[in-house]
Amino acid sequence: MTSTSVFVSGANGYIAQHVVKQLLAKGYSVVGSVRSEAKGEELKSLINNDKFSYEVVPSLTEKGAFDDAIKKHPEVTVFLHTASPVSFSIKDIENDLVKPAIEGTVNALSAIKNYGPQITRVVVTSSAVSILGFGPYFDSDKIYNEDDWNPITYEEGLTNPHFGYFSSKKFAELAANDFVAKENPKFNISFVQPVYVFGPQAYAVKDKANLNFSSEIVNRVVKLSKDDKIPEEAAEFIDVRDVARAHIIAFESDEAISKRLFLAAETYTLDSIADIINRRFPQSTVPKADLSKNAEILKTAHKIDNSRTRKILGFEFKTLEESVYDTVEQINNA
Ligand code: NAP
Repeated sequence: MTSTSVFVSGANGYIAQHVVKQLLAKGYSVVGSVRSEAKGEELKSLINNDKFSYEVVPSLTEKGAFDDAIKKHPEVTVFLHTASPVSFSIKDIENDLVKPAIEGTVNALSAIKNYGPQITRVVVTSSAVSILGFGPYFDSDKIYNEDDWNPITYEEGLTNPHFGYFSSKKFAELAANDFVAKENPKFNISFVQPVYVFGPQAYAVKDKANLNFSSEIVNRVVKLSKDDKIPEEAAEFIDVRDVARAHIIAFESDEAISKRLFLAAETYTLDSIADIINRRFPQSTVPKADLSKNAEILKTAHKIDNSRTRKILGFEFKTLEESVYDTVEQINNA
C-alpha cells in the first residue's frame, strides 16, 4: 500500500471514475476536480471512500484555473489531466470544444509548475484522434503507430464538431509538449491515447437511455429493435478498465516517461457488437448480425501497430466480447 496522493481532473468523467476506482483499490489517495459542488458531492457518495476528496474547478479556460486546487494540496505528487470536452452537439466549436481542451491543459501544467513543485509525474489523457487520420486524411493502407500525428489543421478543426474534437485533442497535446519544451518543468509527462472506449460504468449507471459518447456506440446497438437495420460502421476499441490501468502505469513506470501510450485492442463493427449481444443475451431485441459483411465494412477501420505501448504496459487488453458483455449486462440491470 502507498501513501501517494494523486490529483485527477474531471474526476466524474466515464474514464476518470475508473481511474479513481483503481487508484483507491491500489491504496492511493485521490483528489478529484469537478465543475461544481453538486457534482463533487454526488461523486463522493458514489465512491464512498475516505481517501477520496474533491475540489471545485468551475472552468478549464479561466486563467489560473487549477492554481487554488494545487495550492491546497501540497501532498499531491502525481497529476492526471483527463478533463476535456467530449461533446459533438456544441454550437461554438472553438470556445466550447477546442479552447477548453488546449487552455485547460496549459492551465493545469502552469499550476503544477508554479504551485506544485513536489509533483513529479503528469499524465495527460490525449486521444487516438491526435494520431490517426480521418476524412481526407484517412489512409486505409497505412499502419498507424505511436509516432504518427493527425495532419488536421487548427482551421479545419473549426469546420465541424467532429473535426473540432480531433483538433482539440491534437492541439492540446502539442500545447503540452510546447509547455514542457519552453518551461522545462520539474515533472515528467506521459500521454494516454485511447481509441473508442467501451465497457461498464465504474459505479452506477445514471441514465441508461443516455450514456457517455463512446459507450453510446454499444448502447445504440442495444436499443435497436428486431426489424431495424444495423448501421454499417467500423472502428477500433479499447476497454475502459484497460484505459484506467494504463493511466496508472503511465506514472508508475519510468519506461512510460515522455511516451504516447496508444491504446487499441481490436477493431469492431456494429454487426460484431450485435453478434455478441445475440449470442450472450438471447432474450434481447437486437437484430440478427450479419458477419459476412464485416470484411467490407472493416475497410474503413484504421490499421494499428501499438506493440511499443503493449510492451510498456505488459498486460493483455480485454477483448471486444468481454467489454461488450460487461457493458450490456450492466445496462440490462440498471
Ligand atoms: P466524459 O465522461 O464526458 O468526461 C469528460 C470530463 O471532462 C468530465 O469530468 C467533464 O465534466 C469534463 N469536462 C468536459 N468539458 C469540460 C469543460 N468545458 N470544463 C471543465 N470540465 C469539462 O468523457 P470520457 O470519455 O471519460 O473522456 C475523458 C477523457 O478521455 C477526455 O480527455 C477525452 O478526450 C479522452 N478520450 C475519451 C475517449 C472515449 O472514447 N471515451 C477516447 C479517447 C480519449 P462534466 O461532467 O462537468 O461535463
